[in-house]
Amino acid sequence: MRKAEPFKIKMVEPIRLIPREEREARLKEAGYNPFALRGEDVYIDLLTDSGTGAMSDRQWAALMMGDESYAGSRSFYRLEDVMKKITGYQYVIPAHQGRGAEQILFPNVIKNKGDYVLNNMHFDTTKAHVEIAGGRAINLIDDKAFDTMTYDDFKGNFDLEKLEAFIQNNPLEKIACIVVTVTCNSSGGQPVSMANIKGVKKIADHYGLKVFFDAARYAENAYFIKQREEGYQDKTIREIALEMFSYGHGMMMSCKKDGLVNIGGIIAIHDDLELYRACRSIMVPLEGFPTYGGMAGRDMEALAVGLEEALEEDYLAYRMDQVKYLGERLIKAEVPIQYPTGGHAVFVDCKKICSHIPYDQFPAQAVCNAVYLAGGVRAVEIGSFLLGRDPDTGENLESPLEFMRLTIPRRVYTNRHMDVVADAVIEVFHHADQLVGLAFDYEPKVLRHFTARLRPVQ
Ligand SMILES: *Cc1c(COP(=O)(O)O)cnc(C)c1O
Repeated sequence: MRKAEPFKIKMVEPIRLIPREEREARLKEAGYNPFALRGEDVYIDLLTDSGTGAMSDRQWAALMMGDESYAGSRSFYRLEDVMKKITGYQYVIPAHQGRGAEQILFPNVIKNKGDYVLNNMHFDTTKAHVEIAGGRAINLIDDKAFDTMTYDDFKGNFDLEKLEAFIQNNPLEKIACIVVTVTCNSSGGQPVSMANIKGVKKIADHYGLKVFFDAARYAENAYFIKQREEGYQDKTIREIALEMFSYGHGMMMSCKKDGLVNIGGIIAIHDDLELYRACRSIMVPLEGFPTYGGMAGRDMEALAVGLEEALEEDYLAYRMDQVKYLGERLIKAEVPIQYPTGGHAVFVDCKKICSHIPYDQFPAQAVCNAVYLAGGVRAVEIGSFLLGRDPDTGENLESPLEFMRLTIPRRVYTNRHMDVVADAVIEVFHHADQLVGLAFDYEPKVLRHFTARLRPVQ
């Protein structure tokens, strides 16, 4: 039997589609960068699933129970308890969001300038924090992730041969750690299989390396494992997550994703007391005292509830279904997307639909802008614009994928909204040969895509 959303709506927030001429003016003012648009000028906002989800009534109730003690907050101990049960790890450190966790962890793991961090595929802030800590971010994802049209169950997997070859071809002491990003945001919210995680762990053990999880969407990853991987059908999401974390030295997480809260992050460490102490001591000046780490007591309380809700199978089924629904509407209209759809977003392959725009004129950014004009829908570029420049040569890097990401907030929009999104994308797709590339008016040095200003190339 078909199932509807496993919730009903208790509170609504009005949204509005401003007229086309206004959208054109707003986009121009925004320097052709949707990050600079005001939220109120956006009709359906698929910029990110980060911190944009709706909290449940139980989470709102939990806010009232927050303990705002500076040190030793009851809400911290509740959160710690929930995290220990999910991960099996001993040490829990809250942070203000995922990048807060990154700025604490990486300087303690990257010992020398130029040390490598090996990831299936780095998320943008993760790469930035590796580099700020003096490291080099290396992506070793399986090439099947780049073949968007061909189905594969686990397009987030590491290429284990590439991983091992990289380790063998470089001095071992230059390798800081391995990070497994679940699901792999940058390849399309694609899952990593348990077999692949075990393979990473085996290689790591062989060479004495540490494995960390970048676990923003670990519950969505666990759901995919349950659906697609032999031997996990009868396990609960919680059991799958616990097994996954058992292969790690620690994890960091943006709780704005599978924590179902609007702000928050976390580090959890298996049993490395020395690393835990090192993280705690730089916590205080950077994030806050170790029992709040940049979060209010009430936020930790709501997070403790959200972490549990994100493990519920009804919820995960609804979530994956909605992403799939939007993906299927686009596939039907022959729009090329990363197939199958991942956990949190539909990724449109703009290299295919705008092959006339060169990578350093950002084809996917051009498509995002057109989709805003067509339907007031805000999407985000995940391609060469985001990738930035080579830190050594200053050249624009060419991303193997030029994606427009349509990112679906958790428990926020209905499938009717998804229809409006699909209509706008399909309209743009049919006229994509008329789109033009973009050039910089202003280009910041770090994470340029957030604040850059662009102009259409004439
Ligand atoms: C969102 C995200 C981060 C960074 O988290 P913030 O909460 O946005 O700071 C890190 N890694 C991955 C995989 C993410 O998706």
